[in-house]
Amino acid sequence: MTSNIEQSLSIVVPCYNEEEVIGETVRRLRAFCASQPALRIELLFVDDGSRDGTLALLRGFAAEDARIRVIAFARNFGHQLAVTAGIEHAVGDAVLLIDADLQDPPEVAAEMIALWRQGYDVVYGTRTERPGESAFKLGAARSFYRVLNWLSDVPIPLDTGDFRLMSRQVVDTLNAMPERDRFVRGMVAWVGFRQVALPYKRAQRFAGVSKYPLRKMVRFATDGILSFSTRPLQVSITMGLAAAALALLGIVYALVARLFTDTWVEGWTALMLAVLFIGGVQLISIGILGEYVGRIYNEVKRRPLYVVRERIGAGSGAGAGDGR
Ligand code: UDP
Ligand code: MG
Repeated sequence: MTSNIEQSLSIVVPCYNEEEVIGETVRRLRAFCASQPALRIELLFVDDGSRDGTLALLRGFAAEDARIRVIAFARNFGHQLAVTAGIEHAVGDAVLLIDADLQDPPEVAAEMIALWRQGYDVVYGTRTERPGESAFKLGAARSFYRVLNWLSDVPIPLDTGDFRLMSRQVVDTLNAMPERDRFVRGMVAWVGFRQVALPYKRAQRFAGVSKYPLRKMVRFATDGILSFSTRPLQVSITMGLAAAALALLGIVYALVARLFTDTWVEGWTALMLAVLFIGGVQLISIGILGEYVGRIYNEVKRRPLYVVRERIGAGSGAGAGDGR
């Protein structure tokens, strides 16, 4: 890439009830813009149906700064869809995804930009430290990324969030992927191109509380696994086979005991255990199957991914995307 042509960068920031941090986030991002004179930067905030003052604050910032654009959702659609909308509306030669809570230090993005200029298409931040998170969340995240990788057909980088820089080519490819259950970091891994990890120290949330309660975390993890693997279906076959094998052993044992000894297997307990065991295996398998069927149902409905209530800021008609 030649440096005499001015390049542009879109910074996409998903926000959900972030009134306590958003002012500081804007300040830090503006400072970052000032440190990058060679880049034309747009700040694209996606308000994911906040119920606090986030949107009002963003409206104020957009009014006084032409670089700031805001896309406001009609309700809370979730982090991954907020990110999706941001990517679809971004017009930059590169797109940076960053959380609103300043856990991902904007200054790290300077290194990402340097790597992008060296020719990488995706520079993803890998967390070396995550201070201030609960032991439960750390443990859950650690195990999740490992299980996901074991299950997934595409290698998905470990301990990596959505903090990343992507080239226009990657962004266009993502925009052409119409799937409903969007696990963005996995989709980016699937796309390919030249990708590189950038280790960074994740900061503490600047203010406010996590907008990822356990319910959303579980849903996010299930989406990740089910969108990137059909192995759970194979696991359910394996469970069925194991249950059948166990039953076969039981039959042999019962027959041998009855025919060749003068004792036999007595009734209730064995029967009850067998019924519960088989019942459990069947319900789990049906449940797994059901999760996939439910996702097919979601796909065929072909609803828009998200609903935009309002676009604020200069040139807000630019970019694609109406949630398709
Ligand atoms: N977020 C969002 N919609 C949601 C939940 C979260 O847009 O439904 C945003 C949130 O404002 C933040 C980012 O996603 O910018 C990550 O959320 P959070 O920091 O609460 O998650 P954590 O870092 O605790 O995993
Ligand atoms: Mg956070």
